[in-house]
Amino acid sequence: MATDIPLRDGVTRFLADDPGRLLIDGEWTDAASGRRFATTDPATGRHLADVARGESADVDRAVAAARRALESGAWASMTPPERSKLLWRVADLMESHLDELAELETLDQGKNWRTSRFGEIPAAINQFRYYAGWPTKIMGEVLPATVGRTPPGASLFAYTRREPVGVVGAIVPWNSPMIMTAMKLAPALAAGCTIVLKPAENTPLTALFLGRLLQEAGLPAGAVNIVTGFGGEAGQALADHRGVDKIAFTGSTAVGKRLLASAAGNLKRLTLELGGKSPSIVLPDADLTAAVAGVSSGIFDNGGQVCVASARIYAHRDVYDDVVSGMAAAGEKLRLGHGLDPEADLGPLVSVPQAERVERFVAEGAADGVTVVTGGERSGAAGTFYSPTVLTGVRPGARLMREEIFGPVAVVTPFDDLDEVVGWANDSDYGLAASVWTEGLGDAHRLAARLQAGTVWVNCHSFLGPELPKGGHKESGWGYENGPQGLENYLETKSVVMVL
Ligand code: NAD
Repeated sequence: MATDIPLRDGVTRFLADDPGRLLIDGEWTDAASGRRFATTDPATGRHLADVARGESADVDRAVAAARRALESGAWASMTPPERSKLLWRVADLMESHLDELAELETLDQGKNWRTSRFGEIPAAINQFRYYAGWPTKIMGEVLPATVGRTPPGASLFAYTRREPVGVVGAIVPWNSPMIMTAMKLAPALAAGCTIVLKPAENTPLTALFLGRLLQEAGLPAGAVNIVTGFGGEAGQALADHRGVDKIAFTGSTAVGKRLLASAAGNLKRLTLELGGKSPSIVLPDADLTAAVAGVSSGIFDNGGQVCVASARIYAHRDVYDDVVSGMAAAGEKLRLGHGLDPEADLGPLVSVPQAERVERFVAEGAADGVTVVTGGERSGAAGTFYSPTVLTGVRPGARLMREEIFGPVAVVTPFDDLDEVVGWANDSDYGLAASVWTEGLGDAHRLAARLQAGTVWVNCHSFLGPELPKGGHKESGWGYENGPQGLENYLETKSVVMVL
């Protein structure tokens, strides 16, 4: 496993420059406790940086700074066109540091360089560019109000104002750190909110790099604060904080449910982008080459650590054998290796506990009579690599079929008719995404309507963009990110009524 891959100068300089401090009120500072934790390269276990272990005292400081920036000073008085320019400048700066951001993301998270460099960091930049267009288009309406108590001879003039929801606590997961961060920061800033960002403890580095770029772009102090730390400490303190007006959370359904109780304290607004167990349905008339390639990358990319991963594949019995053998061949072709190794296709999982979790799921299936067609092996010096795995013979009620594994593990099941497969696909607590593979226009639209999911793809999987609202039905979440809906998350409506 390549541990000696030379790093770019910008990354080496960043790592040498004490990158792990908190960003509060425009200053890089240590945690009040002085405590730190290590972030490591998951492929090798190599130490990358010590990062401040923020706790409630740090969250208090960050929320206070965000409140000040919201209510007075340079950010509060910034005009919409100036906010647009600033967001665009952030995107430009990210683009000029694209290679460094991609390398850091790969180092800290493990994902393959191609995914970071050509997929996720550009996608994060696009978030800023998309929402840079919005500040000048946030407007209220004039309302045709009639109220019985209006004095005789007078009339009413009524309108709405759209105002920033306030101080936002943004809590993000480790699977795609920069894109998840951008999906919150860009619309929140476009709406005029201020933010306290809590990156995931496994992957704080790109958020900290972005913090420097935000400063270079001229973002006023306090508009974005970054408090690194653990979920049960900094995350919980932020979620509970009465000075926070909204929590924008992406992460597991289990933590999302706990945040409901946190939000109840001051009835803060809450959007939840949670887990999934997304079905992919391959019909007999599908372009099989495209379908096998699509569902394989849908589950194997980023080691399956993707909320919308194609975790359950239902293949019509006529094409089932071809789908199983095609996916097995696709998985076996992928070369495991360090994300920065140009020869490698698939990096490690994010951590040893994550690899152990995947291993447990597959072992439980094997003990339950499941067939491991390919994969099922953990490897690597740090024990974090997991081979692309294809399983068949999984019972509908089994944990492998119902729970999110977050690893490169595909469960493939044959079906005979459409009603049957729609029932199975929808038999899930989750409802995040689904894909349908068919050349038949009618079946495509009928299935798109019947599948219980926030996004349905036809003849593609994991196609996401800032224009496309993304959210979970059922236990996959509350609310939507991206598109105009993503902006709505960060706005309140105020009615103003005047007697004329
Ligand atoms: P997680 O829920 O463990 O953690 C997510 C974030 O929440 C981290 O920053 C963590 O520190 C923080 N956190 C943990 N406990 C907390 C608490 N008690 N209070 C406040 N914050 C807390 O999730 P994860 O393991 O980091 O990420 C994987 C999960 O994220 C998967 O379930 C995946 O499906 C989901 N996800 C969903 C989407 C989506 O758009 N729906 C996208 C990516 C990931």
